[in-house]
Amino acid sequence: MRKKKVHEVSIALGMVDELMNIARNNNAIKINSVKLKIGRMSGIVTDSLIFAFDAIKLEHSLLSDAEIVIEEVPTVCKCEDCNTSFQTDEMYFPSCSNCNSLHVRILSGEEQQIENVELEI
Ligand SMILES: [Zn+2]
Repeated sequence: MRKKKVHEVSIALGMVDELMNIARNNNAIKINSVKLKIGRMSGIVTDSLIFAFDAIKLEHSLLSDAEIVIEEVPTVCKCEDCNTSFQTDEMYFPSCSNCNSLHVRILSGEEQQIENVELEI
């Protein structure tokens, strides 16, 4: 549990650094909102991430009023054996919904990125 929380805090810190760079590069006076894309398979607990963000953003005047929105991306895999694409909640060993093969490729669900940022310039 404790380890998990540290994980989200370090991700939030990294994203805040990135946001500050974006704001600086655009000469923004404020960041109004931030949309994050977080895949189900990333292992990130979105509530913990928002919690970490809300704590960290107060230390940055550019970011302190920003609304943080998280879009959760479902895990979608494609079976290499029968070509079926399927959605799954299995984090470690997703298997094909059609033929049960474990020979699958992950198409989405591993995202942990800033999708877009609304700046006031
Ligand atoms: Zn299959």
